[in-house]
Amino acid sequence: MYYVGAHVSASGGVENAPLNAAEIGANAFALFTKNQRRWEAKPLSAKNIDTFKANCEANGFGPEQILPHDSYLINLGHPEQEALQKSRDAFLDEMQRCEQLGLKYLNFHPGSHLRKISVDECLARIAESINFALDQTEGVVAVIENTAGQGSNLGCEFEQLAAIIDRVEDKTRVGVCLDTCHTFSAGYDLRTPEACDRTFAQFADIVGFDYLCGMHINDSKVALGSRVDRHHSLGQGEIGWDVFRYIMTDSRFEGIPLVLETIDPAIWHEEIQQLRRFTLEAA
Ligand SMILES: [Zn+2]
Ligand SMILES: [Zn+2]
Repeated sequence: MYYVGAHVSASGGVENAPLNAAEIGANAFALFTKNQRRWEAKPLSAKNIDTFKANCEANGFGPEQILPHDSYLINLGHPEQEALQKSRDAFLDEMQRCEQLGLKYLNFHPGSHLRKISVDECLARIAESINFALDQTEGVVAVIENTAGQGSNLGCEFEQLAAIIDRVEDKTRVGVCLDTCHTFSAGYDLRTPEACDRTFAQFADIVGFDYLCGMHINDSKVALGSRVDRHHSLGQGEIGWDVFRYIMTDSRFEGIPLVLETIDPAIWHEEIQQLRRFTLEAA
């Protein structure tokens, strides 16, 4: 079963996200469980939690179909101790919110060295931050997203994802989310079936599909290897349709949330339908 959806709004309360997802015909979704541009957040109320769970159940969303995303402010590899601690505390809070909501995953961008520490030192800090959060929570899997490699953001090379996983103590609670736009922008070609074969074979060798917990399904406004993060609607960017047909007809991508973060929410419904058509046509 393919789980396809979008990163929907949770405005007015997390409980609205499953309703917004159902409205666009999704059977997967992503959400922020708090304002993604602020450090502070009100704790979830019992009413938020109960209504979220009820709305998920009523609309057929199980925890394996939902990929919450953490705040953009968090940097788990921060070079400075005080800022690192602030990020670790905020990340723990995000993990705990997922725990309260009965969710299985938390998707996050690994971190940035800000040109103040080495890549290796930063990767070690990120892994330590993950260990810190896993120690204090239960059940939720820390899902590292690959990045476009913009600025000093780490996680653009599959080797960096593997290096983080390598240092995480509980391998059952760490995973990866591949963003097609970021993958392409980081220099891995996805424009033809052959290119997809090569890129995903590299991923299989270096990280392994056992760790793949979700995908972000985006086209890219910028060229291969430009290391800039600019999403586009499917088929309208530099990548084109082939990779999306590839994903929807390859069972390695079944059973995990496939989440649109494309730029025009007005056509998410259509994009989801198109993705599902690829699967149906191949059957
Ligand atoms: Zn993404
Ligand atoms: Zn992005």
